[in-house]
Amino acid sequence: MGPSFDVIVVGSGASGVHAAYPLVQAGRQVAMIDVGHEDDRYRSLIPSASFMDIRRNDPHQHRYFLGDDLEGIPLGGVGAGPQITPPRQFVLRDGEALAPKLAPDFFPLESFAMGGLAGAWGAVSFPFLDSELHRCGLPAAEVQKHYQIVAQRIGVSGKAHDDLESVRGRLAAMQPALEVDHNARKMLGRYQARREAFQRAGVYLGQTLLAALSQPIGARQPNAYNDMDFWTNTGDSVYRPEVTLRELSQRPNFHYLRPFLVESFSENVSGQVQVSGRRIHGTATEIWTGRALIMAAGSLGTTRIVLRSLKKYDQRVPFTCNPHTYIPCIHYRALGQLHQERCHSLAQLTMVYDPTRDHNNLVQAQSYSYRSLMLFRLLQQAPLPYREGLRIMRALAPSFVIWVVQHDDVPDSAKYCVLRRGSDPASDRLEIGYRLSTESVRRQDECEKTIMRHIRKIGCYPIKRVHPGHGSSVHYGGQFPMTRDDKPLTTDPAGRLRGTKAVYIVDGSSLAYLPAKGPTLTLMANANRVGGNVLTDGMDSMRSSAS
Ligand SMILES: Cc1cc2nc3c(=O)[nH]c(=O)nc-3n(C[C@H](O)[C@H](O)[C@H](O)COP(=O)(O)OP(=O)(O)OC[C@H]3O[C@@H](n4cnc5c(N)ncnc54)[C@H](O)[C@@H]3O)c2cc1C
Repeated sequence: MGPSFDVIVVGSGASGVHAAYPLVQAGRQVAMIDVGHEDDRYRSLIPSASFMDIRRNDPHQHRYFLGDDLEGIPLGGVGAGPQITPPRQFVLRDGEALAPKLAPDFFPLESFAMGGLAGAWGAVSFPFLDSELHRCGLPAAEVQKHYQIVAQRIGVSGKAHDDLESVRGRLAAMQPALEVDHNARKMLGRYQARREAFQRAGVYLGQTLLAALSQPIGARQPNAYNDMDFWTNTGDSVYRPEVTLRELSQRPNFHYLRPFLVESFSENVSGQVQVSGRRIHGTATEIWTGRALIMAAGSLGTTRIVLRSLKKYDQRVPFTCNPHTYIPCIHYRALGQLHQERCHSLAQLTMVYDPTRDHNNLVQAQSYSYRSLMLFRLLQQAPLPYREGLRIMRALAPSFVIWVVQHDDVPDSAKYCVLRRGSDPASDRLEIGYRLSTESVRRQDECEKTIMRHIRKIGCYPIKRVHPGHGSSVHYGGQFPMTRDDKPLTTDPAGRLRGTKAVYIVDGSSLAYLPAKGPTLTLMANANRVGGNVLTDGMDSMRSSAS
């Protein structure tokens, strides 16, 4: 038998590191098993200078802007993750090879990186409303406490009081908001002059809450306003799970084990969990033993491991994913202005539309000024010949704004995951079916039209709508929903997978519903909560092994 720990965590993403945190702090022996890819090519090449300085002065910029293999030049449609630049593409390395899928109408992204998908995330961090937490199956009062703990740990900046306050959950532990850029300032001013009319229509606008620092935390520095956030992370301003992983790794009771691909788990009669996997690119089976197991392999990764371990091949489980639309716009009120030099590249503003005026069906959109992702990415989409298109786009560039709209998602029978058996675990395929009902498509279309009307009212002319395909939001969940009902293939409110004694789930697969808000802050808060539950549930038995 292999090494034995108090708790084994599978995955080092946003969910995994915050589940491990309270356990490591309490002195438990925690092993985190991960594939753990890293960027070994570009990070050291990117100077900590502003985008314009780099464009003017760095002779090596083509290496990271375009990629050594020109992998930064998009060739197909928009698809999922168009903003994943060459220095971030390690996040998706081996996503297909290590995780075979059958998903003809869905474009999923999976990560096998140290820090998972949040190595490339946009850091938009709105807490869910209590009503949304209830629909997710989460105990709202408990999660509220953990929002504050996690927000303090990772640093969330934003306005404590603005018009978005009523359509988001409470977050007291906030840093001051980051500065907004020239486009956002004007749009916000225009909204403020008409806010009563907007609110009568159920539309609210304010600054985006971001897991990016405006004040230092330890060695992490406030955002440098270099407009390089899609390429690098100067001063670790934007929160990425590797920040927490580094902190955990300082502790002798934390063991980060890679590069291993976990395949399955089982529980033995003495109440221990055995986790088996293999070194990637190897075949020999490795076994690790723990008193509890926390699954944080990402919503799709956890689904694969749980269904395989419980031998539930060919059985459908529910699946949800936030539908996602891009609305590229010309902010005509900013035409003729130069792009502001000092700015960040993250989301600037958030618009929330409440179509039913009861906060139960919110739609959310984020605005981004388009500059540092560069015009060549847009050329393919432009309805103009390339040469002329580029000239026109250069002139319009400082007023390019992209709104990214997200809708909520509820489970239904046309959205599911099912594991199909291969000749060995490595060739099992996760089949994903995802179809939106005609009624959902109609409702989303109406909401997007309302959002576009209001975007126009703040000075943005929408050029078109781009539907990048199902899966492109990369917000997945719902396979083992948290519920009080004692049903197979669900998790209980403590986070424990039903039918097991000590297997817990902390990633999106335990969320019964996906509101129209990025799920990651909630995943981190819930993971911190479940990590605490594991500590309390198994306290007595674990104390003996830690001592
Ligand atoms: C471009 C982009 C932008 C985004 N922007 C936002 C945003 O602004 N706001 C927001 O809330 N969310 C955003 N998201 C979504 C966010 O990144 C995810 O919700 C979050 O990272 C999920 O974290 P996780 O830890 O649950 O899973 P993951 O990040 O998927 O981590 C999974 C971990 O498990 C490991 N793993 C997987 N399978 C195995 C296995 N079999 N064996 C061993 N290890 C394994 C992986 O190596 C990885 O470490 C964005 C995502 C992308 C791609």
